[in-house]
Parts: sequence; C-alpha cells; structure tokens
Amino acid sequence: MDGTSEENDMREERLENLRNIGIFAHVDAGKTTLSEQMLLKAGKIRILGSVDRGTAHTDTLDVERRRGISVKASCVHLDWKGYRIHLIDTPGHTDFSAEMEESMWALDGAVLVICGVEGVQPQTELLFEAFRANGIPAVLFLNKMDRPGADACQVLDQIHRRLSSHAALAKDTEGLLDVVADLDDGIMARYLEGEEIAEKEIRDTFRIFAQAGKCYPVLTGSALQGEGIEEVLDAVVQCLPGPESGRQHLSGVVFASSRDRVLGRGLWVRLYGGELTARQGVEIPGRLDPATGVQSVVMQKISQIRGLDGEDIGKLYAGEIGIVYGLGHLKVGHVFGNVEELPRRVRPGSFRTPLLRVKVEPDRPEDMEKLRQAAEELSEEDPLLQASYSRTLGELSFHVMGVIQQEILEEMLRTRYDLNVHFSKPSVMYRETIAHETVGFAAYTMPKPCWAVMKFHMVPGRRGSGVRFESVVPVRQIAEGYQHQIQQALPLALQQGRLGWPVTDLELTLVDGNHHQFHTHPLDFIVATPWAIQDGLQRGGSVLLEPILEIRFFLPQDCVGRVMSDVAVMRGRVTDTQSDRERVILTALVPLKDSMDYAVTLAALSGGRASMSVKLNGYEPCPLELGAV
Ligand code: GDP
Repeated sequence: MDGTSEENDMREERLENLRNIGIFAHVDAGKTTLSEQMLLKAGKIRILGSVDRGTAHTDTLDVERRRGISVKASCVHLDWKGYRIHLIDTPGHTDFSAEMEESMWALDGAVLVICGVEGVQPQTELLFEAFRANGIPAVLFLNKMDRPGADACQVLDQIHRRLSSHAALAKDTEGLLDVVADLDDGIMARYLEGEEIAEKEIRDTFRIFAQAGKCYPVLTGSALQGEGIEEVLDAVVQCLPGPESGRQHLSGVVFASSRDRVLGRGLWVRLYGGELTARQGVEIPGRLDPATGVQSVVMQKISQIRGLDGEDIGKLYAGEIGIVYGLGHLKVGHVFGNVEELPRRVRPGSFRTPLLRVKVEPDRPEDMEKLRQAAEELSEEDPLLQASYSRTLGELSFHVMGVIQQEILEEMLRTRYDLNVHFSKPSVMYRETIAHETVGFAAYTMPKPCWAVMKFHMVPGRRGSGVRFESVVPVRQIAEGYQHQIQQALPLALQQGRLGWPVTDLELTLVDGNHHQFHTHPLDFIVATPWAIQDGLQRGGSVLLEPILEIRFFLPQDCVGRVMSDVAVMRGRVTDTQSDRERVILTALVPLKDSMDYAVTLAALSGGRASMSVKLNGYEPCPLELGAV
C-alpha cells in the first residue's frame, strides 16, 4: 500500500511514540505488582489488582492466579505522556526459557526488576545476558526498597560487578557522567580538561546511549507502595527506543497464541515491516504429509485483526502488535514475509529444544479420550509441548522443559479440564549420529514402473552443527524437481535413526544417482530417500548423544566441596570457578540425565542458601545403554 505522505508522516509519528516493552524479573522480585502499578498510574485500570489476592490483571490463566506466578505471556497497552506503551508480560522461570525467548521476539526494550533486598540473582544474570545477546536496551528497577535490608548502593555495586559497569542511578548525575564519559571520547576529553558538563547534556547523552543498549539507567522504588512508578514510566519512554522504522517489506513474527470462543485461534503478531489487513490473503505452510514428508502451502484469509483491548482495528502497521484471526493452525514462531528484515533477536526455533519427555495418565482410565483432546488443545496453544499419543501403547506423552512446567500442566488439566492426572518420571530425549564416514545407497527400480537411484556420502559433523545437505549431482542425472523432493524427504528420514532418536551432526552430500526418463513415478524419490539414509546409518554405526547442561552454581563457601564431588558423581566436570566477597560461582558441564533433580538436592544441602541456573550447552556422546528406548 503506498499511502500519502501525510499518512506516512502519521505512521512515523506513531512509531516514534510507541514503546513495545517487556518486564522481566527473577521470580518474586515484583514484576506483576509493578505491571499493575504502571497500569494504575497510567489510568488504564482504576483498582489495583493484587498478586497476593490472585486478582492481578496481567495474570490470565487460573493457574497463574492461584499460584501467584505469571506463566503465559500476555500483552496490554497503556498511555503515558503522549506515548503508547505495549506491555508484554513475560514468564519468570527458567523452565520457561523458550517462552521467555518468544516474548523477546516482540519487544524493543525491557524493564528488569531486581529485588532491592536480595539483589542480583542468577536468573537476573541470565536475563541480562539474553538482553545483551539480543541487543535489547533495558531499564533496571530496584524494587522493594520499603523492606528492611534494602540497600540501593550495595545492589548497584553488584550490578556493576555482575551485569554491566555502564549502569548508574538515574538521580545521580555524577554517576551518569562517569558512564557517559566512558562511552563518549569527546565528553571524556572535555571532562579531563576540567570543563563542567551541563546536566542536560549528560542526561541527553545518557539517554541516547541507553536507547542503543550501551548503558542502563537504574531506578529505585516500591511497587507495592506505588513509589517510583512514574519514574519507571518516564524512563521507558525516554531511555528505551521505539520500533525501528524503514523496513518496507512485510516482516513479522507470531510470538504467542490465544483462543477466542467465537473467532477461534488468535495469533499475537509483532509486525516489523509492511502491514497486515483484515481479509488479506496470506500464504502459510499447510499440513505436512507424513507419508511423503512434503509440506504444502495454503492461502488463508485473515478474518479479523484486533488490538490489545480486543477492539477490531482492521489493520496492523509496522512496529505494532495485534491479534490476528483466521490463520488457523499457524504456529508460534512462524515468521511472515521477509525473514532477512527481522531483527537479530527474532530467531524462531533457536531455543526450542525439548529435553525431557514425560508420560501422563488420567487417574481414571476412562478419561483417556478427554485427556487426549485436552492435550491436543494445549499443544496447539504451546507447540513446545508436542503432545503425542501412541495408539498401540495407549500412551500419551508431553515434552517438557522441567519439573515446574510439569506441575503447571497438572494444575491446568485439573482447573481447566477437570482432569486429575499423574506423570511418569521424565525421561531424557537423546539424539544420535554416525560413528564414521560412509555411504548410503538405494535403488528403487522394482517393481516397474518406478525408478529412483541415489547415493549419499555421509560424514559425522562437528558437534552442534546439525544436519547439512548439499548435492553435487547434475540435474541431467537427477532432475531438479526430484532433487528438491529428496531434500524435502530428509527431515522425516532423519527423525529416527538406528537407535530410535533424531539424527544430527551429519554432513550429507548427494553424490550420485539418476532418474529414468520413462519409469520414474512422481513420488519415487520421496519413497526411496529414507531407504538410502537408513542404509547409510546402518553402515556408519551409531553414536548416542545426550544433552549436556551448563550449570552455574552460586554457592556459599562451605557448600563448594560437596557440590564439586556431586558434580563428579553426576558424570560432570567443573569448567570454571570464580569467587567474590559473598560467594563462589562454580560453572560445570553435567549430563541432564543425572542432574534433573539436583535443584532440590542443592536447596536441601545448603539450607536454601545456594542457587543454580541452567542452560543447554549441547550434546555429547554417551554410553549406548543409557538411551535405550
Ligand atoms: P513476580 O513473581 O516478579 O511477578 O512478583 P510479584 O509481583 O508476584 O510479587 C512477589 C511478592 O512480592 C508479592 O507477595 C508482592 O506483594 C511482593 N512485593 C512486590 N513488590 C513489592 C514491594 O515493592 N515491596 C514489598 N515489601 N513487597 C513487594
């Protein structure tokens, strides 16, 4: 749509005055309470909801209300001093790292809540690392300053040591100057020459650097008492950037989904470029045919676009967030249009590695069908769950990231579907690769008429490299269309190797083969590809790969010896130790299988004084007998 220049100007202004932000925090730091206060101060709500009474406005699920934690990302907007702020609520537990990543897809800036008493926690560090890796500017809020023991100076000191030296209290002009001088050579030179830098210049420069994610304003207050909230809102509009303009082509991402009784499945879309209009047709991936491995493309029409208040807005512009209906089963993580124009932080799929599988059974066997339907609905909302049902075994299983998610699932099934269930002990999801270089060959030439001959050269890939495929076969030997079919058939062919796990870290080259001018039938290459792959996997031998976690332990001195020996018992190895005045940080690589329950052990052995943060480091070879399916 080319629009008039007046329209364009309006759009530009709209972008400049828009802030898409997320509030992140260590669990219990006060994220929900702060969100409520911001809504209240901006006049969006008139009565304060409360986490403690289970009436918070941003907590949507019943489970969240009853547990008092935010699980599902949701989004509301508020207006502040001529700016519109889209507030994206974000999950606060490491178990939900995938969801946390997803909510980062939609935002341009973040508020990080840190408890003024407990200070910088392992989770705070993880979140901050994620901001830095994704280039997300942030405002830091030291909450709970009303509580005895809250100490802004001490926490600021921790922030400098553990997060960034370029952070300063917003009210401390001297502190701001230190940061600004460090970032700007010109100001540094003038400062060294003894020139007095005007406060306005210091603040303006700081703001510009903050918007670029190079420094961080620190605010203090109490969400519970409603203190310091205006300052947070001011900092959001001043120190966090608006959506970048200038992206012409359609580009956007589905970062969450919800269900509406009338309109069906709603997709929460953040648009980065172009626009989406109601009744516009959009090409989306259709069903994957399990027999052929071919994914069709279908045209679907957007039936309605709604704003965050549920109002019909008809159109979504670049930079905005809205709920799009009519695109059916489209999954969270789907990107619209031109992927190249999406910012670095939108990397759908990068954190979506399910590590555990857990079987679920209804307490009453006759509820199985009901459970199956509930599971289907839930995994439509959260594709990460990947509910799968085996008819032969009569078993239903979910993929989970950890025990907390399992607990929440259990409650969700009870409150929403009136189903009482029990879970098996989670089992690890392994992967596999080949042991040595080999070839995989298939000749599908009988019974005629059929013809598909192909030979792959297969080489074990570098750890973490995934599957790479190329073809060196000329199209006169295997026509382009058939080569394309081979490529399409690969994901399914590699889904289960000789040990029963997905195959990875493999370099595949199509080196030989041919089609037949008369005998080749349209689907012959799709049928034969898995045969050639299986042939190669058999010749190449199997290596079982297990997920390895990088665990960071935050320990009081007297727990270090015990944890070190536990790491060894869990087949792990310590890779780094650091200590500061208060604690020792031990980094270790430990197989998931042996460390699944360690958080509980650690809490017990340290009397709750130690903590740990976990992330997936990668996969490493392990003894074959571990991965018996
Ligand atoms: P979240 O888990 O980060 O969303 O944190 P909540 O907003 O649910 O708050 C966790 C607990 O801390 C609740 O019991 C709140 O009432 C309490 N809380 C939040 N902010 C403050 C504050 O500024 N001062 C005090 N004393 N308590 C607070």
